[in-house]
Amino acid sequence: MSDKPPPEPFEHLPKHIQELIKGSNVKSFFIPPDRGSGSPAEEATDEVDQAHDATLRRIREFNLKPREIRDYLDRFVIQQDEAKKVLSVAICDHYNHVRQCLENALLRERDYAKQNILLLGPTGVGKTYLMRCIAKLIGVPFVKADATKFSETGYVGGDVEDLVRDLVKAADGDVELAQYGIIYIDEIDKIASAAAGTVGRDVSGRGVQINLLKLMEETEVNLHSQTDIAGQFQALMDFQRGSRPRKRTVNTRHILFIVSGAFDKLAEQIKRRVQSGQIGFAAAAPDRPADDSSLLPLAQSRDFIDYGLEPEFVGRLPVRVACRALTADDLEKILLTSEGSILQQYRADFSGYGIDFEITAEAVREIARQAHAESTGARGLMTVLERVLRNFKFELPSTAIKSFKIDRDTIARPRETLQTLLKQNAAQQHAVLQADVAAFAARFQKDYGFELVFAGSAIERLIELSLASDKTIRALCEEKFRDFHHGLKLIARDGEPRRFDITREVIDAPDKMLSRWVVDRFKQEKS
Ligand code: ADP
Repeated sequence: MSDKPPPEPFEHLPKHIQELIKGSNVKSFFIPPDRGSGSPAEEATDEVDQAHDATLRRIREFNLKPREIRDYLDRFVIQQDEAKKVLSVAICDHYNHVRQCLENALLRERDYAKQNILLLGPTGVGKTYLMRCIAKLIGVPFVKADATKFSETGYVGGDVEDLVRDLVKAADGDVELAQYGIIYIDEIDKIASAAAGTVGRDVSGRGVQINLLKLMEETEVNLHSQTDIAGQFQALMDFQRGSRPRKRTVNTRHILFIVSGAFDKLAEQIKRRVQSGQIGFAAAAPDRPADDSSLLPLAQSRDFIDYGLEPEFVGRLPVRVACRALTADDLEKILLTSEGSILQQYRADFSGYGIDFEITAEAVREIARQAHAESTGARGLMTVLERVLRNFKFELPSTAIKSFKIDRDTIARPRETLQTLLKQNAAQQHAVLQADVAAFAARFQKDYGFELVFAGSAIERLIELSLASDKTIRALCEEKFRDFHHGLKLIARDGEPRRFDITREVIDAPDKMLSRWVVDRFKQEKS
């Protein structure tokens, strides 16, 4: 044994970098490997250039029309027609402008009011979903955060800048692509400085708004925050290695910002105004019952400022649109027609075990009805489905059941329906459990090289124990035969078949039987 101490993690680094690291809390450090015989710097440059070109091509080729975006959104998002229209136009304007700036550098110098978007509306109605779908369609990175996350740290400007750094991560480190990404900030109403109902102004919310303003305009965000020491060293190392210096800042000029919030108190504010007759209520003509979300489209800049958003902040959000609350009918439609709805997800989850289900129209309606009562928009669908199908997901994968039906009764009494289904399947279940014993024997042979031959009586005993203890055959066998292979090794001789008969007695007292086998073996050897 050598007494040499383990190598210092940083001793391969140049002396001056080791000095820098000393005293910092950096524990490890990634050094990109040298690539092949060519000059590493040249190869790295090639790669960077290729990625760079692909990115720009994507943006340069932006040629979607608003109607095309709307049609794409229709596949996934139910209702919200006005939001789809407004967003489609804003997105086309934004990415057309980006494309033109790339084609003609002179355009860059001209003033351009970015179409940052304010999305209003209750929770779970598709605000984020709309933007996620759009980002996916265009191929730009997308990040989402809650504004409340920033209010906790108040003035620490670095915090909101993390959003931009997250965008770089979402773009797999591609800084160029990140510069055309979409940042979505939810719960913006919670950082309104005069947050309705509070007395006086909440300075920290104001601070966050001001910091966000800077990002929404144009600023250069450092790729590594002040506190990211490892990142700072990484950049230094890249420089040392002679690779082309990577871009270290992200420009936010072409990043699109979406802020959203429920602004629930805003509806009251507007209602008061509407009722006092300043605006003809009929002119606003909500085509649905006058719930709060049907009042939000009437919001004006003044309302947001009164609510507590800074005037400059409101000014940078020229595109405003409200998403409506979803009715039970809408929720039903989501289940039936939205691509990638939560029901599809459940289908995919079950099909992972080769299980399929049929769902009746009545059941879909009932799920939608219960979900609507949750008052969490489409999120309620997941709550209801989870409650109904939780035990099905737990039990069915271990059974022979390959298809089942969800009807009204399943929704009303999921537990009882599942029990009935399991009972009906009891005969086939026996075969499944037998197969589980065979599967254990096969695994044991593969892992340890011993063949366990289970007698019929042993299999029946295992099944009996499994049903009585509510344990799987796998868990039961693993428990009973945990250290079995050690004993078998003592018994097995070279060249002899490594086969062992497992009887009912072995199942009931595996350790006792194994000891007896070992003793018998030694007795045999002596005689
Ligand atoms: P929010 O409005 O709070 O941003 P989300 O967009 O995150 O809500 O909605 C949560 C989930 O509910 C989405 O991922 C989507 O699956 C579903 N969903 C919400 N609204 C709709 C809708 N209008 N059409 C289809 N699915 C929706």
